[in-house]
Amino acid sequence: MKKETLAIHGASIEKSSTGDVSPSLHLSTTFFRDENGGYPGGHMYTRVSNPNRKQLEHTLCSLEGGEDCAAFSSGNAAGMTIFQALEPNSHIIAPDDMYWGLKKQLLTIFNNILEFSFVDLNNKEELKNYLQPNTKMIWAESPSNPLIKVYDLEWLGNFSKANKLIFVCDSTFASPCLQNPIKYGVDIVLHSSTKFIGGHSDVLGGALITAKKDEFWSKIKNIQEIGGAVPSPFDCFLLLRSIKTLHYRMLGHAQNAQLLAEYLENHPKIESVLYPGLKSHPNYEVASRMMKSGGGMLSVTIKDGEKAASFIANNLKLFAQATSLGGVESLIEHRYSVEGPNSLTPKNLLRVSVGLENIEDLIQDFSDALDKI
Ligand SMILES: *Cc1c(COP(=O)(O)O)cnc(C)c1O
Repeated sequence: MKKETLAIHGASIEKSSTGDVSPSLHLSTTFFRDENGGYPGGHMYTRVSNPNRKQLEHTLCSLEGGEDCAAFSSGNAAGMTIFQALEPNSHIIAPDDMYWGLKKQLLTIFNNILEFSFVDLNNKEELKNYLQPNTKMIWAESPSNPLIKVYDLEWLGNFSKANKLIFVCDSTFASPCLQNPIKYGVDIVLHSSTKFIGGHSDVLGGALITAKKDEFWSKIKNIQEIGGAVPSPFDCFLLLRSIKTLHYRMLGHAQNAQLLAEYLENHPKIESVLYPGLKSHPNYEVASRMMKSGGGMLSVTIKDGEKAASFIANNLKLFAQATSLGGVESLIEHRYSVEGPNSLTPKNLLRVSVGLENIEDLIQDFSDALDKI
């Protein structure tokens, strides 16, 4: 089955005894045992598994083309599970512009447990210089948040295999509809389902999808079950509902983002537009190979600097000034003020999550705000 079909029918793995067409919400935390001590319903306790979570994991797994999926209560909980599954003193090679929240986990929670190097993963010649005897993992994030860098997952996949490393890709910005990293040799895909997968800015969630059920994956499943950072049945229910329209939402986000990027690129008050669907993007060729479209996220830098950037963020009417991304409503954020002084993000950068409003309204809104500076 193709993705649009999987997104709609992927959850219908078990026909319900009551004949529901749409999956029901299963709030029970505990499930009956039979006289032999077994669990005839296939579930024992909701932390371990739940019908709604099983449907969500099954659907995400099939959309990514993996062997198994583990859903979590947030994207950060999913990321933390990977770090926890590594042996102490393992070394990770991670991108220098790694999503701020996960970089902060490494720096403040795993600083005495793991070793890490933050490097430019696009610098193919230099990468081998960062290998250490204890290097166990390469972490990529593509497109990256908020610098919208795109990495050559195929090249990194071969590099990981040659050096026996576990290759993880945070594919949140692409969603399972625009990019399937497992195809390029990624071992584990991470999604913050809070973003495009949820798509309505009302559910927090995360997921890991594995290419194979190996020993490392068993550790991850164990941490999920025993650690317990799992999504509630209602979160899973909402995410499954969202996934049914994911494909068409991604088409709309990408179409709007492409047109907005083209408009902003030609605007005299804009210094640069970072969007993988633009020919001017430094990784345009790689992005055209990895992704079906440029996606729904772009960043812009403003010629007049930080003050002008915050003026624009304050004067847009349709782009809500708020963190997060991937919802139907457009959002804008000055990332530097969130990430702080150690961030690589330029002070005049605004990150834009392009929503599903009419593109003419969105362009008009930017045009009005830019006219005022
Ligand atoms: C938001 C985000 C995360 C973290 O997800 P939460 O659901 O907020 O915990 C991880 N990676 C990327 C790229 C993100 O944008």
